[in-house]
Order: sequence, then structure tokens, then C-alpha cells
Amino acid sequence: MELDEGSRVALLVPGSRAYVDAVLTLLARGVVPIPLDPRLTETERCRILTPLAPEVVVTTVDELAAVTAGGVPGRGHGLPRARPMHCTSGTTGVPKGVWSGLLDDADAAALVAEERDLWGFAADDVNLVLSPLYHSAPLRFAMGTILAGGRLSVPGPFDPAAVTAAIERDRPTTMFCVPTHLQRLFAHWDVVGVPDLTSFRLVAHAGAPCPTEVKRRLVALFPAGSTWEFYGSTEGQFTACRSEEWLERPGTVGRARPGRTLSLDEDGTIWCAVPAYARFSYFGDDARTAAAWRTDGGVARFSVGDLGRLDDDGYLYLDGRREDLVITGGVNVYPLEVELVLGEHPGVDDVAVYGVDDPDWGARVCAAVVGTASEAELAAYARERLAPPKRPKTWTFLDTLPRTLTGKVRLQDLRRTTTGG
Ligand code: ATP
Repeated sequence: MELDEGSRVALLVPGSRAYVDAVLTLLARGVVPIPLDPRLTETERCRILTPLAPEVVVTTVDELAAVTAGGVPGRGHGLPRARPMHCTSGTTGVPKGVWSGLLDDADAAALVAEERDLWGFAADDVNLVLSPLYHSAPLRFAMGTILAGGRLSVPGPFDPAAVTAAIERDRPTTMFCVPTHLQRLFAHWDVVGVPDLTSFRLVAHAGAPCPTEVKRRLVALFPAGSTWEFYGSTEGQFTACRSEEWLERPGTVGRARPGRTLSLDEDGTIWCAVPAYARFSYFGDDARTAAAWRTDGGVARFSVGDLGRLDDDGYLYLDGRREDLVITGGVNVYPLEVELVLGEHPGVDDVAVYGVDDPDWGARVCAAVVGTASEAELAAYARERLAPPKRPKTWTFLDTLPRTLTGKVRLQDLRRTTTGG
């Protein structure tokens, strides 16, 4: 099948080694793959694909083979001439198509080198693929490994027993995950025992806040120096942080990655300057693109709407997302701050804090809790540790929090549960 440079191919196929090869083959031809969740319903597919207008939609492995038939003569997995066009998770609304345009050879080489230098991808790496490859971070880890001549271990849709078996069988050296994966793996290992983890040299997590006790257990279980957190989004990568740095400054997501500069505006919104090859726009949405970028002092910076603080040494601490900020009676409440406090209660396994509309306060702070603590206990705990506007007014108790596959809490679902809407 002939595809022109710059044309778009939507991939609705489960992740596998062949999938990553196909993505690399398309990219080397300057064709932009759009990796999507194969389990999307017809309505969701239409909603996401209509604005992206791909020339080809691939829904079976056979079709994937046809689209990439023959590979790229003489180039093997040559340099990517484009970046996959990933959709954001849609945590705050409809997923946004992040579009990066075509790359010249120098920019392509710089992009590959940047990932390789940060994560040290090498020919003897075996990357354990835990997360769906239609998300940007796991696909970047998989592509970086293959471009370096390494291998993948793909145990399929996340299942702690299958992942544990893959660790024992394939002796992986790297993995990317979200905190929910770690929580589920640790719960499984509490029952069956911890597998031999000595093959790992790099375990990186990102995508959602990691509870303190999960982080401490991660550091204790995996080889010294192997565990990292980074903060990034589909639009770009901002920081990287060794767990050792985190232990010295609990709660940080680290300092800016090489080539990035972070700054905050007066509201605490995080802005990031990136190299030219890492610029992006939102496909077909000029207004959103314009709102995401601004130029100050001649430097172009973008924001995805996260809030944070920087300490004197340049370590970033996240305060949540601008859209999740709860303004109650005119006071700004950062849900993440309240979650961290409530999460320290021994009877709380998981917690999400969010705002719902309130006729008196504009918005009121609500908490959804998984655990054994009662409402009276938690209200008393909050009274001792939080100023009045930050104390949840409504408590909901659940068996599990609704989460996306990227580990993010589905706040809209919780708001509906709270308001009965
Ligand atoms: P949408 O933009 O469509 O609402 P999304 O922002 O959830 O979706 P992603 O690009 O998958 O889509 O997620 C990026 C967001 O995840 C970041 O903007 C940040 O809010 C959060 N995040 C990423 N890394 C971390 C981290 N280490 N700790 C806490 N939150 C993180």
C-alpha cells in the first residue's frame, strides 16, 4: 500500500513486538501512526477519528502487515521522520490529538539520542511492556529499546500473574509503569512472593501521583539505583527524578530533563521550554494550540495546565491540574494536597479529592475513599491537619476508585456518583 509522507494511519490493534516494528516502519517513511485503544466503541472511535481524518484505519494484525509490507528498503528501522501522533488520555475531556509534523534528519537524530542518553537504551535491554502501547510513554520505551537493538517482553493486557511470569521467564532490564500497576503487582506479590527482580536496571513510573508507601516499597524491592519517576504528558516530557533524589525531597517529580527549562507563572501554572524538534500542536485545533503556547523573552513555552512549585534547587512539586483546582468560597484548594494528607491515614488505601458545584460555596471539596476508616474518623483527622476550606464536606466510600488504564482517577465518574447525576 502506497502512503505519502505526512499521511496518517490510525492503529486500533493490540500491542505486540510487530506493532512497535510497524510504528517504526511507518515513522521511517514519514507516515504518522495514530495509536488508539482497540477497545474503543464505535461512537468513541468516530468522536476521536473524525477530527484526525486518517487516510487509513487499521483494525487487524493482517491489515497492519499490509500497510507496512516490505519495511523500508535499505533503512531497516531507520530514523523516525515523524513522531507518532498520540491522543491524550481524555482525563479532562475528549482526547486531544498531539501533532508534531515531520522531522528532518538532524532533528530525528536528536530526538532518538535524547531518549537513549536519558534512559541508556542498549542492545542487551529487554523492555517489559506493562502499559498499552497506544500511550506515548510505553511506546517511547519500546521504540527506544528496539532502535538500540534490544528486545521486548509483552505479556499482554495487564495481569499481575502474567507480568510476574514474564519477569521470571524473560529477565527484563527495563519497564515503564503507572503507580496503579505497582500497587496491583505488590498486592499480588504479597500472596505469591516477590519474583527475582535483579535483572532490572531501569524501572520508571509516571502518569499519576505515586502514594508514598508504594514509592518506598518500589525502592526497597528493586535493585539500588534502578527506580525513577518522571513527569510528562502526551505533549512532552518535563522532568526525571531518581528515587534517591525523591527520598531526600519526598513528593518531588525531579528537575527539568536535559534540554528543557521549567518556569511558573503567578498562578503556579507550569510552563516548559523545549527544543525545536519537541514542539507540537493540537491537530485541527488552532485555538487550543495558541492557548497552550506563549513566548516570553524570545523563548517559546507550553503548558498542559498543571500547577506546581519549584524549590531553590529547581526540583518541581506538582499541585495538581488547573482544571481540578477547587475554588470554594473564593479560596483555592489543591486536591492533591488534601489527598496526600488523607492518604497518610492508616485506614485509607486510596483516596481522590475533587470539587462539585455548590450553590453556597461555588464549589465544595469532596473525597472518595477506599479503606476501612469511617467518615467520623476521617473528618476528625482532617480537622487536625487541614484548614477549614480544605476539609472535605462530602465523603463517599468505595471498593475501588474508577481509574483509566493510565492510572488516572475518573473524576467525572466520581462527581456523578457524588451528585447522583
Ligand atoms: P487530557 O489532556 O486529555 O485531559 P491527560 O492529560 O490525562 O488527558 P496524559 O498526557 O496521558 O493525558 O497525562 C498527562 C498528565 O498526567 C500530566 O499533565 C499530569 O497531570 C499527570 N502526570 C504525569 N506524570 C505525573 C507524575 N509523575 N505525577 C503526577 N501526575 C503526573
